[in-house]
Amino acid sequence: MARPHEQWHVQVETSPGDVLSTTLGTGLRIDLHTHSVVSDGTDRPEVLVRQARRHGLDVVALTDHDTYDGWDAAHEAAAEEGVELVPGVEISTHCQSYGVHLLAYHVDAGYRPLARELARIRLDRRDRLQRIATRLTQAGLPVELSEVLAHAKGASAVGRPHVADVMVAKGYVASRDEAFATWLSYGCVGYVEKYAPDIVDAIGWVHGAGGVAVLAHPWGRGSRRLFDRTMLTLLAEAGLDGVEVDHQDHDHAERAGLRELATELDLVVTGSSDYHGTGKNGHELGVNTTEPAEWERLLERVGQRTPHGTRRPGAEA
Ligand code: AMP
Ligand code: ZN
Ligand code: FE
Ligand code: FE
Repeated sequence: MARPHEQWHVQVETSPGDVLSTTLGTGLRIDLHTHSVVSDGTDRPEVLVRQARRHGLDVVALTDHDTYDGWDAAHEAAAEEGVELVPGVEISTHCQSYGVHLLAYHVDAGYRPLARELARIRLDRRDRLQRIATRLTQAGLPVELSEVLAHAKGASAVGRPHVADVMVAKGYVASRDEAFATWLSYGCVGYVEKYAPDIVDAIGWVHGAGGVAVLAHPWGRGSRRLFDRTMLTLLAEAGLDGVEVDHQDHDHAERAGLRELATELDLVVTGSSDYHGTGKNGHELGVNTTEPAEWERLLERVGQRTPHGTRRPGAEA
């Protein structure tokens, strides 16, 4: 529900001479985690931005998996719609042996170490599709890589959801959810690991690129044991900026517990939809939002570090 807006304008220097201008205010509706067809969402980036406006959002981040390719189209639509578009990316990383998602905002797309790493992840995502297709075919569900790529319609980052879509189209399963639950999740016949960098390295690259790093859905899908107080403390010491607390994968008690831990560790608390269009149920735009004051804390950290991860001289902690 819309609340009366009290807005003000701030400018943050993201890198010397490069000023990010943004609107802040109480009552702003901010959603910091969404996916388009550029990865495994079902809306084109410009459609997603228009939908964001319709859902009453003032600020929306496009955070496709491992790619920046939706930014240009989203920026253009955002300018037309009067929505603030935050360029973001959800980076596939690993922490110990777990696959972990790291959200990054306002990274410089021209920063080579991060761009190169994302390209490496995308390449392995594609190779992995072949391995998944082979495994499913051997298990009696014939799937060809070419079919999956045709379904992915030129997505820059391909993944299991695209395989799931083919399985639905071929009548093997009724939905993406069933494909994951029965065939594609860890422990299932069609599960194949993908390449992902260590999360601490990824945090360093995000900072090198001038951005901020937020741990996505830390207690979703059984990863609560991994992200206990000790691990979150280690990541905070490694420079992690925030944690996504309000996410559909967290129940009420988990949100409360995680919020308390984040506050104790001085990590920024975010809330987001993780919208995938029709690709994921229950993740409608704006279903969770980020408090404007928390977003402001993140913005204050944007561009404050040198490419080596230390804070720029004169930048406030
Ligand atoms: P991948 O990137 O190939 O490892 O696939 C993981 C992605 O699949 C996640 O980021 C989600 O977007 C999506 N996903 C995971 N579980 C499900 C599910 N049960 N139904 C639909 N999408 C899912
Ligand atoms: Zn996804
Ligand atoms: Fe994720
Ligand atoms: Fe996501």
